[in-house]
Amino acid sequence: MRPGIRLQLLVALGTLLVLAFLPLFFAVVSLHRASMAGVIPTAPLVRLLALYMGIFALALLVFMYLAMTRLVVDPIERLSRAAGRVAEGARRLELPRAGARELAELADSVARMTERLRADEESLRVKIDEATRYAKELERAQERLVRSERLASVGRLAAGLAHEIGNPIAALLGFEELLLAGGLDEADQRDFLQRMKGETERIHGILRDLLDFARPATSVRGGRAPEIGGSLAQAIDAALALVKPQKALRDVAITLDVDKHLPLVALSEERLVQVLLNLLLNAADAVPKPGGRIDLVARRAPEGVRVEVHDNGPGVAPAIRDRLFEPFTTTKEIGKGTGLGLAVCRGLLESVGGSIGVEHGEEGAGARFSFTVPLAAKDLS
Ligand code: ADP
Repeated sequence: MRPGIRLQLLVALGTLLVLAFLPLFFAVVSLHRASMAGVIPTAPLVRLLALYMGIFALALLVFMYLAMTRLVVDPIERLSRAAGRVAEGARRLELPRAGARELAELADSVARMTERLRADEESLRVKIDEATRYAKELERAQERLVRSERLASVGRLAAGLAHEIGNPIAALLGFEELLLAGGLDEADQRDFLQRMKGETERIHGILRDLLDFARPATSVRGGRAPEIGGSLAQAIDAALALVKPQKALRDVAITLDVDKHLPLVALSEERLVQVLLNLLLNAADAVPKPGGRIDLVARRAPEGVRVEVHDNGPGVAPAIRDRLFEPFTTTKEIGKGTGLGLAVCRGLLESVGGSIGVEHGEEGAGARFSFTVPLAAKDLS
């Protein structure tokens, strides 16, 4: 077993004191005798003694310096260098061999601590690897989900289309059979043809809406705002002029809060009217009559221009909130709604980098649709 610092210092100091004080003792005794006998003058002997004491003090200093260096400072420096190597990435702590027992024990504890830290680091690395793997799996699962969601909306699109077009086609077939069977007078024939025209127009309207929905998706990629933009203020005027005469809006109060100096936006006026019309007609369908209210606000926003259409209807039905902007999402009866309006609006706005959303307030607090359109390229200053 290694001796401790205290013992080593005690032994070394004891030896030094014996070596130093034994001659000193004999020197003092001789000096005493000499002075008693008056044989030799004492003054040089006293000087000799003082010199001896000085040399002894110096030797003690040097000894203490060397002993502390060997016993304490060197081992600590070696330990600190070894710890430094571990900090720089060495796998193991190389323990200093020399030194006192206490320092060897300290080095052992540091080595054990290093081992434990290494083990913790290893298990942490394993956990991080695991977490990274899970994150990747999650990402893949999310991609799969998005893909299946897309497929589901394609399925819903096809189902909705079949449903929407199926009814007028069935009606058309019925009329055609009646016409082919013959025996109808001219007035009936005319009436049937008139109705067939109506049904054909319905199919035409659905297909046009569908094309509107599909077209922006193909031109989204460019992402640049067109050079010539539309005026929102004029589009709002035009949309209101179109909706005001509508029966659905006769008992509805519309309030406007439109910034007078709105810059041109990146969507043509015609498209803006289409978006506004859809939001206003939906709101008109939803509000109570009488007592219906629609508030329209248009303001500058960091993204360009922001328009809000807020009504005092019952709000969007919870059942369709998740897929509100998907094609053929509707709560309206057949013939009244196709469920394409909001999908078309989203397509148009996203094609120029805009967006559309809805806020659902308290139950019965109405729906608050809002959309943003970026500024037209020449107004981007
Ligand atoms: P459509 O009007 O042909 O049904 P939309 O895409 O325009 O198609 O609207 C989809 C559905 O969203 C509507 O059927 C209706 O249920 C709901 N909706 C839209 N606007 C509102 C509104 N302001 N308040 C309540 N529900 C709304």
